[in-house]
Amino acid sequence: MQSSMQDVPLLISQILEYGTTVHAASEVVTWTADGPRRSTYGEMGRDCKRLANALRSLGVDGDQRVATFMWNNEEHLELYLTVPAMGAVLHALNIRLFPEQLIYVANHAQDEVVVVDSSLAAPFAKLLPHLTSVRHVVVNGAVPDDVRAALAADGREVHDYRELLDAQSEEFTWPQLDETTASSMCYTSGTTGNPKGVVYSHRSNYLHAMQLCMPSGLGVRQGDRLLAVVPMFHANAWGMPYGSLLAGATLVMPDRFLQAEPLATMIAAEHCTGGAAVPTIWTDLLRHLDEHPEVDTTSMREVIVGGSACPPSLMRAFEERHDIRVLHAWGMTEMSPLGTIAVPPAGLAGEQAWSYRETQGRLSALVQARLVGPDGSVMAWDGEAVGELEVKGPWITGSYYLDDDPEKFDSGWLRTGDVGTLTPDGFLRLTDRAKDVIKSGGEWISSVDLENALMGHPKVKEASVVGVPDDRWGERPLAAIVVLEGQELTVEELRTYLADHVAKWQVPERWAFVDEVPKTSVGKFDKKVIRRSYAEGKLEVTAG
Ligand code: AMP
Repeated sequence: MQSSMQDVPLLISQILEYGTTVHAASEVVTWTADGPRRSTYGEMGRDCKRLANALRSLGVDGDQRVATFMWNNEEHLELYLTVPAMGAVLHALNIRLFPEQLIYVANHAQDEVVVVDSSLAAPFAKLLPHLTSVRHVVVNGAVPDDVRAALAADGREVHDYRELLDAQSEEFTWPQLDETTASSMCYTSGTTGNPKGVVYSHRSNYLHAMQLCMPSGLGVRQGDRLLAVVPMFHANAWGMPYGSLLAGATLVMPDRFLQAEPLATMIAAEHCTGGAAVPTIWTDLLRHLDEHPEVDTTSMREVIVGGSACPPSLMRAFEERHDIRVLHAWGMTEMSPLGTIAVPPAGLAGEQAWSYRETQGRLSALVQARLVGPDGSVMAWDGEAVGELEVKGPWITGSYYLDDDPEKFDSGWLRTGDVGTLTPDGFLRLTDRAKDVIKSGGEWISSVDLENALMGHPKVKEASVVGVPDDRWGERPLAAIVVLEGQELTVEELRTYLADHVAKWQVPERWAFVDEVPKTSVGKFDKKVIRRSYAEGKLEVTAG
């Protein structure tokens, strides 16, 4: 029997129209050197239509790629909504990639129009001579004449974002698209080889945004004021832009003001209720809030941490000292990104609840998962058996854009490269990235377990553990430690502390005290750089 339901496509234009009319009074707030700059969703809806007309006038009439080289701000949100809604494809460039990688991804995606924040125009101008498909550069904000001239070299047209919009009509009819049409694309942060392109659809973005709003997700709802720290070029800002329009939540956009002090100011001034960021951002913010008890964070209810494993000590400190609940989440660019969120089972409290909250979280309803062992067998969900996680679902990629990578797919499942366990009730605990597991004399050591334990030490600011070659054991852990300012710490103290938290044979013999753990373009610990520094003899290693 056929259903009698209407076949209505799930489109970004629907999110745009709904959010900017039904939730017209909600706001996007952009932080500037002079404080907040505001626009209501209603005002933004009118700008989106002007923007669509402006982009049509630049020749965007099909699935051309419109790229952004921007911070999180109002204009970036307008592009997030408008470009897919008009049938084109949004490509948010990761401003922190190395220049060679940026050139590679912009050319690979064939970006034709690039919208650039004025504060990023000078570095962007240096890339431009290598970007072969770019015809138009639209600058958001004022730039000096020499920068403008550099942008205009080789016959490219340069436009001012606001001037371009001001010249346009507020009338625009969004096209009816197939919901499986490409809406946007994002490249992986590519720690090895070239970054790979993931192409999202209207349907995948729509369903993913609804997941964010579910109570088993972030539970986004009207009245929320979300601090969107995670960049819009890092896996769709974890779904906050579209989720907020659907739910009517206000978005607070930090633009380039990503240090702990301005973030704390934004939380207090804008009465933020939630937000999302990688652990390194929350670690800095925690220290700032500890040192400035006068900052009013009482509005802040619950925030998401993800992108890399969050040390439990960080979550507990936020909750105990600042009454802010930190929800651990796991995902990937390839997964739009949400896979799991650690909302504990109902009715649990205290340590019982923490035992769930410290995991990567419970699988989202539309994310199917299986664990595959080294011999290819599917493992049990018993909380014990360790395997590589493979996933499938409507917001999970089935391939990479113009890039065969058969290694990453297994009979329709995406191989995540993450290793861990699943409990019978669907909670994922990652023990490592497959490539970061330390194989010591036939036994596996989880680098994440060692890092989590070390970061629980009151004098440790950051700790990153990598496997390094060892004549006797094949591989052994090396711990790179950043000591909190003004504190002193010895290897002996760390060894004794660690021996209370992990099996003794796992305690590293190699230690390096460093000023900072190197970070990737999206703020994760960059283990590749630590391994290389060690291999090149650039790390001062203390034996212990
Ligand atoms: P990206 O697509 O750049 O965000 O990277 C995705 C990868 O980040 C995942 O495959 C994991 O290895 C890692 N990751 C993301 N969230 C977490 C988390 N909560 N715990 C541990 N690893 C994580």
